[in-house]
Amino acid sequence: MPRQSIDEWRSTFRGELIQPADAAYDSARKVYNAMIDKRPRLIARCVDVADVMAAVRYGRENGMLTAIRGGGHNGAGLGTCDDGLVIDLSRMKGVRVDPTSHTARVGAGCVWGDVDHATHAFGMAAPSGFISTTGVAGLTLGGGIGYLTRRYGLTIDNLLSADVVLADGRFVTASALENSDLFWALRGGGGNFGAVTSFSYRLHRVTDAYGGLLGYTFDHAAEVLGAYAALSDQVPDHLALYAALVTAPPLPFIPRGLHGQLMAGLFPVCFGTADDHPERTVASVRSLLPPPAVDTTGPMSYQQIQRFSEGPMVPGAHHYYTAEWLDFLDSKAIESLVAVAARATSPLSMIVLKRMGGATARVPADATAFRYRQAAYNLDIHAQWAPGGDPAPHRAWAHDARGAARHASAGGGYVNFIDGDLGDERVRAAYGANYGRLAEVKAAYDPDNFFRFNHNIAPAHGVR
Ligand SMILES: Cc1cc2nc3c(=O)[nH]c(=O)nc-3n(C[C@H](O)[C@H](O)[C@H](O)COP(=O)(O)OP(=O)(O)OC[C@H]3O[C@@H](n4cnc5c(N)ncnc54)[C@H](O)[C@@H]3O)c2cc1C
Repeated sequence: MPRQSIDEWRSTFRGELIQPADAAYDSARKVYNAMIDKRPRLIARCVDVADVMAAVRYGRENGMLTAIRGGGHNGAGLGTCDDGLVIDLSRMKGVRVDPTSHTARVGAGCVWGDVDHATHAFGMAAPSGFISTTGVAGLTLGGGIGYLTRRYGLTIDNLLSADVVLADGRFVTASALENSDLFWALRGGGGNFGAVTSFSYRLHRVTDAYGGLLGYTFDHAAEVLGAYAALSDQVPDHLALYAALVTAPPLPFIPRGLHGQLMAGLFPVCFGTADDHPERTVASVRSLLPPPAVDTTGPMSYQQIQRFSEGPMVPGAHHYYTAEWLDFLDSKAIESLVAVAARATSPLSMIVLKRMGGATARVPADATAFRYRQAAYNLDIHAQWAPGGDPAPHRAWAHDARGAARHASAGGGYVNFIDGDLGDERVRAAYGANYGRLAEVKAAYDPDNFFRFNHNIAPAHGVR
């Protein structure tokens, strides 16, 4: 086959092909993390599966480094690349809810706010992340941790099937019944196996929740984390429980005098029915500590809860993420985390702990590519700072913060939050004992490692 020029390809492509000289280029190459300043050679903004198949073929035939962009939210900037092809799915946004089977088919360009909007109309939700602007695709392919995780499992535990364009341009469906090895790998293995064009999810009856923020002044931080650790072993599955060490942002529900002050926060969010007494459950969390300086707990719609934590995320900021799974949270870890939070290099940075367990831990560790189902906590370190500053001190602080709890590490970090600059060992550690099987599936579906711009799993037995 003779190679197609971009102009020839344009005549059959339904979406947009955007090159550096085009007016749309600078906005099309932007991703969530404003520190990422990549200059792709070509952005193929697809509108349908045929476009995605053509884009994969084009990238392959022209030997181009190829990145896949879903929501563009990845902290390490893995949704775009320098001097290569970006297969941008952000316009593939349809959501079809089937209220009878309690399922939804979701286009890979959706962000979670699109899905929440569509499913909420039917009184249902798919377990996702804890804010609405994250991409459905990247979040799902790494696992998916959010407020509904303890009750209904990870996002991947509610994934029924995915449509995928493989490295050789073929289109397949992966599910428990079709290409089940691929389906196993997609549930945690990231963008290594193909370009997913749509996902089908199981939905749950969720319309509202009871919860919010209990904020404490920083002198109580160790006490707050101590109570959090003690509580964590007793909470029912329908209670999501997060903790954070942050500088209070200037949000309307935070008293003005606290703005800019370091604080410790607890986020209890209860999804029970009236019989589960959500108000009483949240009150039992509150009763363990002195009266909070901020208390926003109360009834909220699911959509409100999903947007509640967006306040401290600053559009246009620079970000660096790192993460670790923890088996426990003891006083040594608490002391070190509080000390490192106190010397944060930016008032926008934060340390977040998410209690895992519940439905997630009831799935065997080898049932999907996602390994750390028995970990007690997901520790996310989120360094965030105003544009223009030197990233080095913020990065160093993030690593310090991760190191603060290293003695409690389960062995690796959550792949959707791990640092992009520390190489292969961090990726291997993120998959633990599942890495070998992932490498075998990679060899079967992408033996040339065409999809390598990601937290990469090298094909077993080397690149073909
Ligand atoms: C502010 C913030 C909050 C977050 N909150 C949560 C949270 O609550 N829970 C959680 O689990 N994670 C959370 N994350 C992490 C998030 O899951 C990852 O950053 C994820 O990669 C974002 O997905 P995306 O589609 O937006 O990413 P993109 O940047 O578009 O892509 C990231 C990677 O995903 C892969 N990818 C994207 N689309 C496709 C596709 N269609 N087919 C194949 N591969 C694809 C590619 O390999 C790409 O390299 C958060 C991130 C941020 C920045």
